[in-house]
Amino acid sequence: MVDPGHGGDDGGAKGPRGLKEKTAALEIGRAVAARLEAAGFEAAVTRDDDTFIPLWDRARAANAQGADLFISLHLNAARARAARGSEVYFLSLGKGDDDEVVAVENAGAGAGPGSPDSVVASILDDLAQKAFLQDSERLAVAIQGQLNRLAGIKERGVKQAPFIVLRGAAMPAVLVEVAFISNPKEEAKLKEAAFRAKVAEAITLGVRRYFAETNGGVRRRTVGGPG
Ligand SMILES: [Zn+2]
Repeated sequence: MVDPGHGGDDGGAKGPRGLKEKTAALEIGRAVAARLEAAGFEAAVTRDDDTFIPLWDRARAANAQGADLFISLHLNAARARAARGSEVYFLSLGKGDDDEVVAVENAGAGAGPGSPDSVVASILDDLAQKAFLQDSERLAVAIQGQLNRLAGIKERGVKQAPFIVLRGAAMPAVLVEVAFISNPKEEAKLKEAAFRAKVAEAITLGVRRYFAETNGGVRRRTVGGPG
């Protein structure tokens, strides 16, 4: 399940030349889904137009369709304009590595029918992802490695954060901050189909590597176990 972030009234971050995160995320999402399909995977998207979908409903859609992976796509924003490259996150049940990013990405949670209105629902959603944290980290590492190669960045590691959109996913789940929309150079690149295709290729290679390791029995999933 490919999840283009934001949409509708929730525009997400904005580039210095006006590119909206919701627009770039949708176009990257389409490219990623198409590339995954070309590689033999069955890809679905949480949104294929400029619609707002509550954060909780995105993981629910993935669960309902029995998705094997959940990949949420976003664009980063930083005060430092030179910040560049990709950051791949998996869920933290506690404090995250970057509070500012979390505040922006969780802003779309909102209230209403899509949000859990009881503590119990919230805990159950947390547990859904908790069983997959090890696999989520492995998926994050696999994708981060490919995106580092694309950006020419050597040692950037994966991060953890309490992103609401990941909490209810009952499968390995990551959130990819594909590039810094706040960086004028990366904003310009995001408008190029060729760059989006390279991002899609990198993410697809990461997914392939993840499944190759899984099928090779490198690490077994512990469902319902501690941690
Ligand atoms: Zn975002």
